[in-house]
Amino acid sequence: MIELLLLDVRTLAFASSVSGFLMAATMIGIYLAGMRSRVLIDWAIAGLGFGLGYLLGHILQTLEVPVATWIAASLANSLIGFGHGMVLVGIQRYLGYRTWFWPVLAMVMVICASVFVSAELRESLRWRIIVQSGFYVALGLYAGALLWRARRPGMRRFHRIAATVIMVYAVLLALRFGYALISPALTTSFVGDPFQIGIFVVSMIYGYALTMALVLVLFREKQVELSDLAEQDPLTGLYNRLSLDSIAERELQRAIERDVPLSLILIDLDHFKDVNDRFGHQAGDRALCRAADLINGVIRDSDIAFRFGGEEFLVLLPGAERQQAAQVADRLRSKMRRTDFRIDDQPVDLRASFGVVECRPGQMCWEDCVAIADQALYRAKSAGRDRVELA
Ligand code: GH3
Ligand code: MG
Ligand code: MG
Repeated sequence: MIELLLLDVRTLAFASSVSGFLMAATMIGIYLAGMRSRVLIDWAIAGLGFGLGYLLGHILQTLEVPVATWIAASLANSLIGFGHGMVLVGIQRYLGYRTWFWPVLAMVMVICASVFVSAELRESLRWRIIVQSGFYVALGLYAGALLWRARRPGMRRFHRIAATVIMVYAVLLALRFGYALISPALTTSFVGDPFQIGIFVVSMIYGYALTMALVLVLFREKQVELSDLAEQDPLTGLYNRLSLDSIAERELQRAIERDVPLSLILIDLDHFKDVNDRFGHQAGDRALCRAADLINGVIRDSDIAFRFGGEEFLVLLPGAERQQAAQVADRLRSKMRRTDFRIDDQPVDLRASFGVVECRPGQMCWEDCVAIADQALYRAKSAGRDRVELA
């Protein structure tokens, strides 16, 4: 089949080098376009490693080079190995781990130097394949596993696409590794062997597929980041008012489908104007952040907190009945009372009033729930503040 395609190692090495350079150009292009991430530099270097390594491999088989074949081949393979290493380094950096740049560089150097030291490696194509493939396989499986297991909201599918590309290639190289291991008589004729040519076809495709998969990961990450930003209140990090409608609609719909209650707490800080007047607006902002932290501290993971307005907050509690929601509100109220919040070493009362309502999914629209909670909140204010009122 591969012979039918009339592909030979020489042509394929050239095509693979193009895919490597294209990977480098793509990453540098994205960097210049404004995404100033060092990950792009790592992957651009990876692409250059592949590009130069395969190009050298191509030249080696096309022209008469004035150096011994094993030296040039070893250099070419080291560049390719460095490319594989930099793919891993970029993935580590992207995931926020410590990178293995220096260990990878050292390993590449050792493998390159070993050819100069060991006559066995110099003369035996089989051993060179075992060492190099083994190195690539280890790097690929590790990099793929890191991406596969990574936990980042909204990224899973894209991580797994890239992980699959990397691991499929690693498994194919593992086959070559195994083949070399069980074939003591492997000679240079292996270069023209359909199996070896097949590996080269895959290497060329790998360059393109990897570039695409990594670009998708980066694009998706930006997309998730931007949509998070659009939903977030920049001061407190809670969801903002803009995102409330869609999230509340979604939760009401879920409550109908699952036939579970949905409650809502509306919170307004007490006498907050005094905090601003006494300590200034910036101190007031800090107090707002503290209030948001306290809210996050008492709600469950499934509850959703919003900054509803200036010093007003709203919490959606899926699955909670009014009594449970009132308990949450009261826990937050007493936590605020117990909090020793200070500005310029002076204690500041962080107090709030709460209106609690259990929505009736299917009977009440979302705006009605808020209006009813607002009435309860108003009653809490009129009754003296620092209290919870149920609708
Ligand atoms: P109460 O609710 O108990 O009736 O009294 P209050 O003083 O909190 O009254 P009100 O709700 O009318 O005032 C809200 C104040 O919150 C007015 C404004 O100065 C302040 N505020 C609103 N947004 C922000 C903000 O983003 N940062 C700061 N520092 N203050 C804000
Ligand atoms: Mg207010
Ligand atoms: Mg207030």
